[in-house]
Amino acid sequence: MRRAIFPGSFDPLTLGHYDIIQRGITLFDELIIAIGINTDKKYMFTLEERRKFIEEAFKDEPKIKVATYEGLTVDFCKKMSANFILRGLRNPGDFEFEKAIAHTNRKLSEIETVFLLTSSGKSYISSSIVRDVIRNGGDFSGLVPATVTFSGKRK
Ligand code: ADP
Repeated sequence: MRRAIFPGSFDPLTLGHYDIIQRGITLFDELIIAIGINTDKKYMFTLEERRKFIEEAFKDEPKIKVATYEGLTVDFCKKMSANFILRGLRNPGDFEFEKAIAHTNRKLSEIETVFLLTSSGKSYISSSIVRDVIRNGGDFSGLVPATVTFSGKRK
């Protein structure tokens, strides 16, 4: 069984993530979308909201599971018996950052990181840009799957 983890904050899920997940699933038997919990980080969307956006977006895809985790990604991989980490690359900044993490993860474990290059037309999309658009009252619907909604009750 080829099982991979796609870790991230998903605050919120974007069309960039969606694209990597749709393409990544063709490479594995199972893909676990793992929402990392970092107690030092402030999120715009609650864990429950972030989880619901993902579950609803992929409800018809049996190969995709959603989970949350704290601590090292490699420890979570071992716990879930996953041998691969899937990550997306948008630009040279992502490459440098991801390279250091992938090398560290290889030092700590046997787990391989598999990278997919962003699809053309999606490379500019990030959760932080989506959050900026939301904060400033803009139309974010072209940047996220339809399952991502905002009640407008928070700043
Ligand atoms: P993190 O906080 O770990 O960076 P994110 O939720 O921002 O979590 O991203 C999770 C993964 O999705 C990362 O591998 C990131 O590079 C990838 N990703 C995010 N946006 C895009 C995009 N537009 N195209 C390709 N990959 C993307």
